Amino acid sequence: MYEVILYYHFHEIVLPEEFCKAHKAKCKELGLKGRIYISEEGLNGTASGSLEQIEAYKQYVWSLPGFDQTEFKQESYDEVPFAKLICKVRKEIVSLHVDGVDPKEGGRHLKPHEWRAVLESDEDHVIIDVRNNYESRVGHFKGAIKPDVKNFFDFPAWLKTADIPKDKKVLMYCTGGIRCEKFSVLMKKEGWEDVNQLHGGILNYAYKEGGEHFKGKCFVFDDRLVVPVNPNDLAPIAHCEITGKPADSYVNCANMECNKLFICSEEGAHLMEGCCSEECKKSEYRRPFDPEQAFQPFRKWYNYFDEEFKERNKEWIKKAEAEEPNGCLS
Ligand SMILES: [Zn+2]
Repeated sequence: MYEVILYYHFHEIVLPEEFCKAHKAKCKELGLKGRIYISEEGLNGTASGSLEQIEAYKQYVWSLPGFDQTEFKQESYDEVPFAKLICKVRKEIVSLHVDGVDPKEGGRHLKPHEWRAVLESDEDHVIIDVRNNYESRVGHFKGAIKPDVKNFFDFPAWLKTADIPKDKKVLMYCTGGIRCEKFSVLMKKEGWEDVNQLHGGILNYAYKEGGEHFKGKCFVFDDRLVVPVNPNDLAPIAHCEITGKPADSYVNCANMECNKLFICSEEGAHLMEGCCSEECKKSEYRRPFDPEQAFQPFRKWYNYFDEEFKERNKEWIKKAEAEEPNGCLS
């Protein structure tokens, strides 16, 4: 068994490059895999390794000045759901693209049992799913508003169009809590007063409260792609984009020029050989379809091709390598 952790902590890092160098060296020494972002505002990561490796890493993080209060969400899994270690400096650890957003000015943190108590009370409220459209599509809290946005940094624009009365009690949640740390600040600045955020996000709620009131599964930014939340309600709420039947597994279109992340059943994946459309099926940039690996996100996709292909597509490969996955980890 392996452990998968998800964590963030906002604390000023004066020299992010130096911090990152030491952090990366430590992770390599421990043999961790995962994705870790470091910025002047703090640390955000998701990583995996053996229980011993993870324990040693947590001790390391807690030993860093200002990071002794870092909270880790932790789960066991039968493999390491990352191909490699990425540890790098970014402008923000979670990209809202709005300056002057200080998580200290955020909403009230509700512990999972407090969150549940509000959901089960008669108190009037609105729930906002602070995640991207492809995440809320496979799972969400009952009754939540699910903004149709592709990136976290689209939320400020969405908020301007959202018709939420300013005197309404606002409950918001995301995967692990970090997006709410910033979005709650924005909502308060824009005039909402009763702003509340689920502490530790869906994953912490699943762990502490068993996922009650949550429908479907939770999208995660590692090779698992989705994880169960409510063991009493595991039925898929989404549909295979190929067959139309209930499904909640994701695949990346096998045409690497497309690479669309879409909901696809095993049947649909076989039918279309991992592609999202007939057009993609005809592409010369199509990876060979491996039914065993249909639901594994693919990584260095160009490795599927020969040297001649790589030589011809050098520029394209360079561009694809530089692309950020999504701008958030949790
Ligand atoms: Zn496609």
